[in-house]
Amino acid sequence: MKHTIATGSNSARTPGPAVNGEADESNGSASDAPSKTPAKISVKKSAAAAKDGPTPVMAQFLSIKARVPDALLFFRMGDFYELFFDDATQAAGALDITLTKRGKHQGADIPMCGVPFHAYENYLARLIRQGFSVAICEQVETPQEAKKRGAKSVVERDIVRIVTPGTLTEESLLDARNNNYLASLAIIGNGMDAAIACVDVSTGEFFVRATSAQSVKSDLASLPLSELLVPDTDNLPADWMAILDELGQGTQLTRQPARIFSSKHAERTLLECFEIQSTDGLGVFDRADISAMGAAISYIELTQAGRKAALLRPRRDTAETSMAIDAATRTSLEIERTQSGARKGSLVATIDRTLTGPGARTLGARIAAPLINVEAIIQRQDEVAFFLANDQCLTPLREALKAVPDMARALSRLLLDRGGPRDLLAIRTGLQGARALAAIIDEAAKGPQAAGPLPHNLGAALRDLDGVDDNGFSALISLLTKSLQPDVPMLARDGGFIEKGYDPALDEVCKLRDESRRVIAGLEAQYRDLTGVKALKVRQNNVLGFFVEVPPSHGDRLLTGDHAETFIHRQTLASAVRFTTGELADLDSRISRARDEALARELDLYEELVGAVSEKSDAIRKAAAAIANIDVAQGFARLAVEENYIRPQIDNSLAFTIIGARHPVVETALKKEGTPFIANDCTLSEDDQAHLWLVTGPNMAGKSTFLRQNALIAIIAQAGGYVPATSCHLGVADRLFSRVGASDDLARGRSTFMVEMVETAAILNQAGERAIVILDEIGRGTSTFDGLSIAWAAVEHLHDRNRCRGLFATHYHELTALDQRLARLRNVSMQVREWKGDVVFLHDVGPGTADRSYGVAVGRLAGLPDAVVNRANEVLAMLESRKEEQNSLESLPLFAALDSEPTPQITPDSALKKALDDIDPDRLTPREALEALYQLKRHSDDI
Ligand code: ATP
Repeated sequence: MKHTIATGSNSARTPGPAVNGEADESNGSASDAPSKTPAKISVKKSAAAAKDGPTPVMAQFLSIKARVPDALLFFRMGDFYELFFDDATQAAGALDITLTKRGKHQGADIPMCGVPFHAYENYLARLIRQGFSVAICEQVETPQEAKKRGAKSVVERDIVRIVTPGTLTEESLLDARNNNYLASLAIIGNGMDAAIACVDVSTGEFFVRATSAQSVKSDLASLPLSELLVPDTDNLPADWMAILDELGQGTQLTRQPARIFSSKHAERTLLECFEIQSTDGLGVFDRADISAMGAAISYIELTQAGRKAALLRPRRDTAETSMAIDAATRTSLEIERTQSGARKGSLVATIDRTLTGPGARTLGARIAAPLINVEAIIQRQDEVAFFLANDQCLTPLREALKAVPDMARALSRLLLDRGGPRDLLAIRTGLQGARALAAIIDEAAKGPQAAGPLPHNLGAALRDLDGVDDNGFSALISLLTKSLQPDVPMLARDGGFIEKGYDPALDEVCKLRDESRRVIAGLEAQYRDLTGVKALKVRQNNVLGFFVEVPPSHGDRLLTGDHAETFIHRQTLASAVRFTTGELADLDSRISRARDEALARELDLYEELVGAVSEKSDAIRKAAAAIANIDVAQGFARLAVEENYIRPQIDNSLAFTIIGARHPVVETALKKEGTPFIANDCTLSEDDQAHLWLVTGPNMAGKSTFLRQNALIAIIAQAGGYVPATSCHLGVADRLFSRVGASDDLARGRSTFMVEMVETAAILNQAGERAIVILDEIGRGTSTFDGLSIAWAAVEHLHDRNRCRGLFATHYHELTALDQRLARLRNVSMQVREWKGDVVFLHDVGPGTADRSYGVAVGRLAGLPDAVVNRANEVLAMLESRKEEQNSLESLPLFAALDSEPTPQITPDSALKKALDDIDPDRLTPREALEALYQLKRHSDDI
């Protein structure tokens, strides 16, 4: 029987040799085959064995599979992980590998596919990305061990790990520059108390924050979340049930038994995990916090088959420490990802000049949660300023950073028993790198060129780099240097990583092994002399062990006479005849014993080294965090030099004065095309009368860019970075809102306009005096009058009630009249010129209002047919002349509404106006444009 793994190379293979009668098993139970529900992982206590007498291996498979019905089971058989039944069907489809079959069960074929174990990570990664969870089932004894229990015994197997998106540690499965969070959501009692515990298993980071039905979506949005645990219960308040449904649409939702969220269970889990007597020892946590944290730990332990979770002690995050940015704002500002989901082109990617994975992750976390504490922001800025003032140290610092490996992730793998010699080496290189960095910074602070004292954060980082609070790293570095070879294998079981001279016992065994090799070389020479066959060779393979090989023409010489006693015939091939000898067999067993002994000794030493590292794990993590912090600061310094960013002035005022501001992402994109970006000022402030700007201007003039650049600058500034402007004074904002009118959210089943209104409502209800609000064309998703009325009322509300700093872009020029009534509203507009009938965008924000929308001109630029453009111009001219005749400012419907509330009047020619307003030239297909033209003509005929 042959089956094929059809991935690129289409490598064909036959199943490996029978392992104690395992190769020809069939007769699984098709009815026991599970179906995929990847988001509900459990390991059942009792294993249900098949009743109808499947063969031993299949019975073992079914029994193990029954424990993980919701994960794909990678069942180790020799050099392959095999999948059976539904698992096979799903995996073959997901991986695009050939589905084959292996024996029969109840008369039907058992579907099967397999992946080679030495290359399984690639397949695993693809399955995880597609939302599957995978249970890895290993052979936990050797075939020889199984044989001792009886010739027909089945090799014992067990699940060693369940791989889920939120519990990854493998370098190959993780994105080096992004955190990988598993969050657990606990909802207590009537739903009033809730908390989110958040873990990055790959680094051990662990924190918890309070949440609520209102804020949970935005609380989760600030995290690069891979998996969310929620209780598997219908017993939650209705609002929470609805929220869970909604969360499940964008996130991998894993339901877990409500039991593990219960206060008692969760508390016990926490105490055991951190080996403490009372949770008070961890800090002040409420019931919801404990429930969320305990459930997260239970789940992690479940996925690693009961091994203890290696986590840092949890910290409590309070919402009050960072700027609240809801999910819609994050999406609209493309902070961490672009709207299409890519990191490239996002704010973070554009300003990222870090050189290490941990540095990039720290930058991402800071931008995702900008600070609101002025002092803390200034401390971060001071670090950047230090590197700029001491720029002589930047080059060596960057070189040193490039050589630093990801210590946090290497450490977590070691602590979780998933590491290897390379992770030990990474810790050594990382700690050496930390020292090098400390020396460079120390020199910069104290050397002859030093400019100013070491800022607070860098002082703390220096202590952590050297592990000062934990007796330093000297002993550990020297231990790892003495013990490890410069080039080590990934897995400890491959051996050969301990440096000669480190362990006398190991050296002794290795000597025996190496000597035996010399003896074999000697034997080869001796046998050649003895037989006179110059081409005789001593070789080795797995089946025969060591053997003598001669060409077929010399075979007879060894098979006859005296030689026949020494040389025992084993194999005749077309190209060679093979023999063993008593001496070779003896040596063979000595060498393989020595090899086993050497490996066993190396594994013991490996464990000792891991022990030494884990004793320093807290200090190593602090050093890793210090490196990441330095990387972020140097990155901002580099950015400041490369892109001309400056240090913003941050305080507790309500100032928002950004002069010469640029949009970081648009500027970068334009630079590539050789187009300059036009800088603009924005001054919203408490004492200056205007804290709300109404921005008008044609399509494509740069309104959205202007609005967003100001929001992005606030984010970078409060994250502690330098900003793209010539000067910036910012009173910290506690919340940031950004909305663009009429964005689609069909996936959530809401109409475009509904989404727009829900989001606008959220802002108008929540924004306080310290918020910054960016509203871009709110109201455009409905008819002109409805939209205008809503936009009008929203501006008034922002001005009078929210009293926040805000920018409001609109095409409703009627709104600009509001500045006559609203004292702190200012009209600004994007400057354009008309030149030979074309519109030229100056991208310059100036005082006053746009004289018109230039929609038809933009339509022409977009390629509307000339006939449509010409006719639209005629219609526009006609409409404008009528409007001038009929409408003075006061007779506008809005002002009429103010005078005689509540109903605005609609004029008789509104059908034509509405038809014209309904045309969005940017969105028309040529055919729709023609249709629109006919419609306009019909209306104009009616007048
Ligand atoms: P619409 O009303 O159609 O949404 P808009 O007025 O919001 O348009 P933007 O989307 O902000 O216009 O800008 C359109 C394009 O103009 C940008 O993609 C960018 O290429 C260019 N642009 C915007 N602002 C500037 C600027 N300050 N300097 C140079 N180019 C700019």
